[in-house]
Amino acid sequence: MIERANLSPEQDAAYRAALTRALEAGAAVLRDGGEALDAVQAAIQIMEDDPLFNAGRGAVFTAEGRNELDAAVMNGADLTAGAVAGLTTTRHPIAAARAVMEQSPHVMLIGPGADAFAASQNLEQVDPGYFFTERRWQGLVKFLTDNNLPVPERPAGAPPAGMASLEPAPPLNERKFGTVGAVALDSHGNLAAGTSTGGTTGKRWGRVGDVPVIGAGTYASNQDGCAVSATGDGEYFIRATVARDICARMAVLRDSDRPGMIPCGDHGEVCFNDHLPDSWVAAQEEIDEAESLGGKGGVIVMTRDGYAHFAMSTPGMYRGEVRSDLEPRVAIYADEE
Ligand code: ASP
Repeated sequence: MIERANLSPEQDAAYRAALTRALEAGAAVLRDGGEALDAVQAAIQIMEDDPLFNAGRGAVFTAEGRNELDAAVMNGADLTAGAVAGLTTTRHPIAAARAVMEQSPHVMLIGPGADAFAASQNLEQVDPGYFFTERRWQGLVKFLTDNNLPVPERPAGAPPAGMASLEPAPPLNERKFGTVGAVALDSHGNLAAGTSTGGTTGKRWGRVGDVPVIGAGTYASNQDGCAVSATGDGEYFIRATVARDICARMAVLRDSDRPGMIPCGDHGEVCFNDHLPDSWVAAQEEIDEAESLGGKGGVIVMTRDGYAHFAMSTPGMYRGEVRSDLEPRVAIYADEE
């Protein structure tokens, strides 16, 4: 769990700096009139390259001691989408998801075929050892030991055990919730969402979570005025169809005359009379629904008028926001503004 007690001041600062770098990469695209999809990809690639996050380099390990990466992207303008699962050699899974969306007739590719497709699109391929981090390996060893499961050999190419590591010390009970995602609205009025993850520590049998399932961990629709990326207990987020439901709830809320709702934006947004915007209410109701099934997690939501909202049922979620009229703002714990 992401809690104050689990992060040292140095780790806290490192996460905030990393989030700011990702926000700046996305903002740079949008500032130049670029597309929401490019902004989402730019922000996510920064986090995929950063060993702090459970995505790309820094992904958690499967029970067999491998890194199997999942990602998805969706274009709100035309509801096209692309997803990949179980990648082991593609450096930027989000770029592979984008290529599936734009360069293939399919929506989801898995396993070696997905890596082969990414390679055919000239996306950078790396030795699987590239994804090794001591922090995540130790997290796997602890998880397997705690669950009386066999610990596999250290992967070939990993630095010898006990070698001094410059990586920040691990909060070892952080099994999940380092998944990365981004949602964006561009100056053309288009929304996009993307998500990338290593999944859950010690996953087995080719397990795939919610991230590459369109409508569960990732969804965007200009029509609904909504883009969503989720992190959390994937099994529950799939069953609750979290991301799609948030967008559907927002569309319904906007079109309904539920008691207590008042107009509060220039673009048809509605608020409850306690000034909670429809996007916040939709996100919170959906997170509550996933929690009632047994799944914890959080979402980032972008609205068609450029407001970012967060909802979570966990004590923390790494998150941030930037707008053309706002400096980047980052937060970690649930009780931060
Ligand atoms: N949702 C991801 C999964 O289930 C894990 C996470 O967000 O931490 O694969």
